[in-house]
Amino acid sequence: MFFRYTDDFSSSYRFAREKFRAAARAAGAELASHVHPDGQGIDGEDLTIDVCRLGNPRSSRQFLMISGTHGMEGYAGSALQVAWLRSRLDPALLTNIGVVLVHGLNPYGFSHGIRTTGAGVDLNRNFIDHDAVAPTNLRYEEVHSHLVADVSDPNEWQRAEQGLVAVLDRLGEDALFDAVARGQYTHPDGVFYGGTQRTWENLALERILVEFMGHAEKVAAIDWHTGIGSYGKPFFLAFSEQGSQALRETARWWGEEHVLAAQPHGRSRPRYQGLVFDGVRTFLPRAEVAGGVIEWGTRGAEAGDIAIRQDLWLRQHAARLPADTLTQLRADLLDSLNPVSYLWRTSVLSEGIRVMEATANGLSRW
Ligand SMILES: [Zn+2]
Repeated sequence: MFFRYTDDFSSSYRFAREKFRAAARAAGAELASHVHPDGQGIDGEDLTIDVCRLGNPRSSRQFLMISGTHGMEGYAGSALQVAWLRSRLDPALLTNIGVVLVHGLNPYGFSHGIRTTGAGVDLNRNFIDHDAVAPTNLRYEEVHSHLVADVSDPNEWQRAEQGLVAVLDRLGEDALFDAVARGQYTHPDGVFYGGTQRTWENLALERILVEFMGHAEKVAAIDWHTGIGSYGKPFFLAFSEQGSQALRETARWWGEEHVLAAQPHGRSRPRYQGLVFDGVRTFLPRAEVAGGVIEWGTRGAEAGDIAIRQDLWLRQHAARLPADTLTQLRADLLDSLNPVSYLWRTSVLSEGIRVMEATANGLSRW
């Protein structure tokens, strides 16, 4: 197995941000920051979305990579952005395409160790048209009270588990997963809550894309996440329309067998609403947009379900939990979305570099 020492990963948002900015400067990239208006990091640091651009800014082909959409899932994406900046970039490739790296799209969640924004919004469900009637998810109602049960009360916890099993028996695994993960716009205290208006992060992404790639005609987008797939392996979720050239290109870069038959956690794909990818397409109306989300697998399906709920407990029940329990919960959640193991990190870096190269080279020939 490929193995080399690297410090591309970081142990906190603050270190990740510093590393990204230093790597961007060293690569001669243009660097910009968007400061979060009303948030501070867990250590009192500034919260910013940092953006760097390299390659050919005038090219009609632009490669976009985003880390930290789900806050604390941002460590892997950040490490890959740093590794990309530190790698020996092919000058011929960079004449042909532009590259825009967006670091820490949800800096509050990244710094504070949660997946959502500080207001509890799942950023990857926020990119709907908020002027229209919000998408409905009627089945979410059936699972909400079970998902938000207070983990510190064993009786309530047991009732919630039994409730979820009953819904599972009735609906089946695919429909239950769709109800939970599709996105919902009715329960601010629930999971995958998309909010009632565009968040600051959503508005900032529009400004970034219009400024840096508003002229683009062909865009390859990768939004890095963690938690779905096999341990240390990439899991691909392409979002371009069925039958489109953009989807065919994505399949060519990432492998048809991975892209066209992808089943998150072995289940049918939920009818996701309000994805960052939808935002990218809306903000760049002139462009064909290929790519989508790439997840890095960690502990598998069951642990992934638990992580979503742990994230919620940390936001809602932290004050009631004993300090010792809280510390363990935080460490467990962090390790379930950002494994500390060097084996995992080495695998993410070696496979991730291959994926980034395949995407950039594919884009330059598209
Ligand atoms: Zn995610």
